[in-house]
Amino acid sequence: MNCKKSRKMFMDFINDKLSPDDLEEFLDHVNNCDECKQELDIYYTVTKGMQLLDEHPDTKKIYINIDDKLASADEWLASYRLRKMEKISILILLCLFMIFL
Ligand SMILES: [Zn+2]
Repeated sequence: MNCKKSRKMFMDFINDKLSPDDLEEFLDHVNNCDECKQELDIYYTVTKGMQLLDEHPDTKKIYINIDDKLASADEWLASYRLRKMEKISILILLCLFMIFL
């Protein structure tokens, strides 16, 4: 993925709308590209900040950190992969079961 493509995905990433494959590519790029990460940080802080102020207008202190968002996306992707692996394993087991029956 290049910087141009990654930047087009910022809003979808912030709104959790990337497909698992896109998310994987996106995280790969952003975690290795300081420029995109910095820009994403700004986008995320502004977007999330406005959202939080909208929902909780009396909030005095807002804590927004792109590293938290990236880490939770990483975790989500890892558990998604695990679930996919589990499904495939079960499918393989079922197939073996059918063959040997
Ligand atoms: Zn980049």
